[in-house]
Amino acid sequence: MNWTKSVRVVTVLKRIGLLAVLFLLMAGLLRASDHFADKRWKEEMFSPGLRGKTVVIDPGHGGADPGAVAAGAKESHINMDLALALKKLLENSGATVKLTRQGDRGLVPEKRMSYFEQWLILEKRRGFAHDQRSHMLISIHANSNKDPRASGGIVFYSDEFSGPLAESIQKHLNLLYKKERQVEQNRFTIINGNSMPSVLIEAGFISNKQDREMLIFQQERVARAILAGLRDYADSLKPVGEAGRQYRDN
Ligand SMILES: [Zn+2]
Repeated sequence: MNWTKSVRVVTVLKRIGLLAVLFLLMAGLLRASDHFADKRWKEEMFSPGLRGKTVVIDPGHGGADPGAVAAGAKESHINMDLALALKKLLENSGATVKLTRQGDRGLVPEKRMSYFEQWLILEKRRGFAHDQRSHMLISIHANSNKDPRASGGIVFYSDEFSGPLAESIQKHLNLLYKKERQVEQNRFTIINGNSMPSVLIEAGFISNKQDREMLIFQQERVARAILAGLRDYADSLKPVGEAGRQYRDN
């Protein structure tokens, strides 16, 4: 190798080195900005009030999956109508609302699914709430039971920090249905292991005549009960620093 050639090699190496340093700097900056966005997201999650919050509503089932069916009524339609009524009320309260599906489009199955495919769709719905940096995830369903007398709403939560949100909605559904039902802890895929408080609401029994009529003809009343629960919960929050609140850090 002559002298000119080795100078060229050194110059190229220097350029590669400079590019590598620039790349590392950029990657570092991106990580830092992501870290701050995450930090702000979690602070907003536990700041008081509904105004400014992003809420992801998941109208259960849809597409090729009607959910429970009773007296010609499909759960997937009931869930959607209730989700839309709740969306409107939340938006009037200053929240931003995103849905995991629009009618029968979006994150819905196109055909009968295997258990794995069902799980995958639920994982995608969960992932959507995460990608939206949502402050709450509300999955809406309607219950069904062989006993047509079974009635009322039941709110499920998985992670401890979602318990207060579940309790608050349960209280207002009990007032609506004049019941004394309790929240239940269950590791349903959609609400399990999320960063944000997440609940699955069985908003009433499609298999019960009174509940079904309430869900179909008076979904506004059901939506108002859920909103009241969301509002009580949001108003009771204290900023992260003040409350010394523990939240999932992932
Ligand atoms: Zn369901």
